[in-house]
Amino acid sequence: MMQLDARQRAMLAEMGIRVWGPEYPAGEPDDALPGPPRGEEAAVMAAPVAVTRPATGPQTPAVVPVTPRALPADIAGMDWDALQQAVASCQACGLCRSRKNTVFGVGDRQARWLVVGEAPGENEDLQGEPFVGQAGQLLDNMLKAVGLSRQGSGAEAVYIANVLKCRPPANRNPQPEEVLQCEPYLRRQVALLQPQIILALGRFAAQTLLQHTVPDVATIPLGKLRGQVHRYEGVPVIVSYHPAYLLRTPQDKAKAWIDLCVAQAVLRGETAP
Ligand code: SF4
Repeated sequence: MMQLDARQRAMLAEMGIRVWGPEYPAGEPDDALPGPPRGEEAAVMAAPVAVTRPATGPQTPAVVPVTPRALPADIAGMDWDALQQAVASCQACGLCRSRKNTVFGVGDRQARWLVVGEAPGENEDLQGEPFVGQAGQLLDNMLKAVGLSRQGSGAEAVYIANVLKCRPPANRNPQPEEVLQCEPYLRRQVALLQPQIILALGRFAAQTLLQHTVPDVATIPLGKLRGQVHRYEGVPVIVSYHPAYLLRTPQDKAKAWIDLCVAQAVLRGETAP
């Protein structure tokens, strides 16, 4: 059985996840899954991770599928600094009028992990950084549980970005045209970062990343996109819950932990992408 060290147990406790099984002293292998899971957790973990087309179900589309388009030439040739500057001055959609700051992304630009969220909220708009505030703290704890940090480098490195770089007013849902205009920036970030795994957090991130590879993705509940290895720009994608949702629905934190473990397994080549 895989093992958890004291640090991971503490982080899982901060996530609100109870871990079963024996304690292991610091210094034990930390490539761990909590175990053994029970009930619904066990069922989810027992389910094979597969690259299959999920069943459809009724749900209001959040992102209207759009025709794939080539990255605009001026974006396709940009390096990190040029891309960040382009975002900072972008007026391609109406969100530029109400933003206080653009939120480009944070983390090591050589990270193997990329976390993608939806859009900046009020705190992110004020600070110009993704995932701050309570949801950000929960994300940080989740990442710490698998040995990652937004300040980390090397094996601890992660890069965090959103689909939209500007805050939708009053935290309303992103509009299809806004996603259409902004997604090329994320695509260029992926091309520059060349991550080995992408964690898509929440409905909008999942629908945006999978809109060209999963038919009818806008009608598929998030839960049915979990437990599978998807692809975005050739990079394996694991879908999970948004930390803001987990704050409202703490009983699903264990599922988010499972998703992190699946992403770890894919990264290690333990699960065929
Ligand atoms: S949300 Fe994206 S496309 Fe819209 S103004 Fe901001 S950076 Fe530009």
